[in-house]
Amino acid sequence: MHRAGQVVAEVLDTMREQVAPGVTTAMLNETAESIIRGHNAIPSFLGYPPGSVHPFPASICASVNEELVHGIPGPRVLQEGDIVSIDVGAILDGYHGDAAITLPVGEISPDAQRLLEVTEAALYEGIAAAKAGYRSGDVSAAIQAYVEGHGYNVVREYTGHGIGRKMHEEPQVPNHGLRGQGVRLRKGMTIALEPMVLVGARHVRTLDDHWAVVSCDGKLNAHFEHTIAITDGEAEILTRREA
Ligand code: MG
Repeated sequence: MHRAGQVVAEVLDTMREQVAPGVTTAMLNETAESIIRGHNAIPSFLGYPPGSVHPFPASICASVNEELVHGIPGPRVLQEGDIVSIDVGAILDGYHGDAAITLPVGEISPDAQRLLEVTEAALYEGIAAAKAGYRSGDVSAAIQAYVEGHGYNVVREYTGHGIGRKMHEEPQVPNHGLRGQGVRLRKGMTIALEPMVLVGARHVRTLDDHWAVVSCDGKLNAHFEHTIAITDGEAEILTRREA
């Protein structure tokens, strides 16, 4: 899982450098796929879920502005002032890594910048609460309290998740919940935490492409995610690049 996480981390670091006005989301996808394949890893989003009538057609999700998650990369050209969420998953030697960041495209508005900062900080609030002996609800509640304390909403329909030999395993770790509820976290568990934060109302819908999830009111959204391993102390972040 360490090695799969490092492939994902390398992709996201490269995205930080490549995202700029004039770049298409298809170009980002090509870069991501070549890095993943260069490590003899498999892009886990491509063709997901197996056997589906509408499998995901790319190696990253690229979700711009009002798109929350699951945006399909394509000819869309990133514009100055946009924000773009990049979500990437890779399988190496049978184990998965999964992480996401939301990046500014050139200069962005102070409101958009604040949304990115709050969403990323909410992820770290969740990670800080994810320790052996605590419950999944403690993590969910920490994320929700931080986000709502800053005047934003969390998405209810999509959640963090256990991860390992499959991309999505038990337990689900929602971005809302109650302290003391849910599954007890144990040392060695690996989970993906992923706050999805809306500036406006928390209602979302899926576009006709069967994938992209957007806010119903068209307002901005952001998404950050890490795959972590539970320890007795601070969780280990597997999708952060090691020096
Ligand atoms: Mg995930």
